[in-house]
Amino acid sequence: MRANSRRIEKLSVSDAIRLQFCERQVGFARDGQFDSLKSSNLYTHLGDVIHQVVEDFASFPAGGDFRSWFESTWEMHLSAEYEKYSKSIFPLEPRRPEAWPNLTIKKVELGRSLKRRLDWQFAPAAADRVDRVPLEGVEVWLPSRNLDREPLPLVYGRIDAIRHSGEKPLLVDLKTGDSSVTIERTRMQLSLYSYLYEFETGLEPVCARQDVSGNLEWLTDLSSGSVHRTYEAVEKKIQEFNSKIAESTFEASVNESNCTLCDYRVVCDDFKASNLNSESLEVIQGEVARVIDSGRMCTLELRIGEGRTDSVLIHGLDPSKWAEKVGFKAFFTGLSRSAGSETEFRINEFSRGIAVSAI
Ligand code: SF4
Repeated sequence: MRANSRRIEKLSVSDAIRLQFCERQVGFARDGQFDSLKSSNLYTHLGDVIHQVVEDFASFPAGGDFRSWFESTWEMHLSAEYEKYSKSIFPLEPRRPEAWPNLTIKKVELGRSLKRRLDWQFAPAAADRVDRVPLEGVEVWLPSRNLDREPLPLVYGRIDAIRHSGEKPLLVDLKTGDSSVTIERTRMQLSLYSYLYEFETGLEPVCARQDVSGNLEWLTDLSSGSVHRTYEAVEKKIQEFNSKIAESTFEASVNESNCTLCDYRVVCDDFKASNLNSESLEVIQGEVARVIDSGRMCTLELRIGEGRTDSVLIHGLDPSKWAEKVGFKAFFTGLSRSAGSETEFRINEFSRGIAVSAI
């Protein structure tokens, strides 16, 4: 399947990293017809809750009541993520937070880690511990929004935190246990932020990853030279990408680390033809023959073969997204089989489906 991508004028740091690893993935991500494949699941929502609580912890006041701060901050971010998750899986009933996998254990672990960090952060003896710095300047835009200089770099983003004390400014990436973020990706991410920081201030920063307990892992090999080379490589890749838009010849880089969590496997022909395409990715595809509306949900009749009898039913879809899609080609993955039937399926919270007009 081809991606009709929009041209890149500016790119977020996270998309710039994706572009370095697989340009086809960025092509799909920049084509609106594949938007509903973008995944959000309970693990990513829980990761976002943790990330936000850790960021808020940066402004926890000395002498404050940690327990009540932690409970209220956790609840505030959890209910915001629950809201987002509920919208993303409509019309399915969302799973209540009490039933999210690992939620209780992650909350307890985070509370303990932050409490330990609090104990040393405000202890006089720990004040000069360079390996356990408190956060400052959280979620900082680079370049800053009011930077009045042209031309600006092609990439932009928000660094987790910047600490300004010490010999050099320290750029911090927060580690909250997202397994898709490898050290290679972190190195590239911090290189781009270093480039942006130096562009804006003229100062060369140092970089580190910080876990929720406050421990730092220094990235000592990010010299100014290597940081500039990383940015130049991204710039070159953006030009190459833009030159391929008309023909949609974006290269697919099929390998386990790129593809395992890629949202576009279901429409990526190179992935489907590779030996990484295991049976666990069952794709149901065909032409939408009929949409049967039953109020809150609808059912799709999908013609999967040449004959009129080769069709399946897919239940539980959002009518506002599917009512106008008769004649479109549709792709589904992650469906559940209806009990006792070979031809009826239901969506669940892990299902993804799209309809595209080009057949
Ligand atoms: S499935 Fe793999 S090769 Fe295909 S777009 Fe995604 S990351 Fe790239």
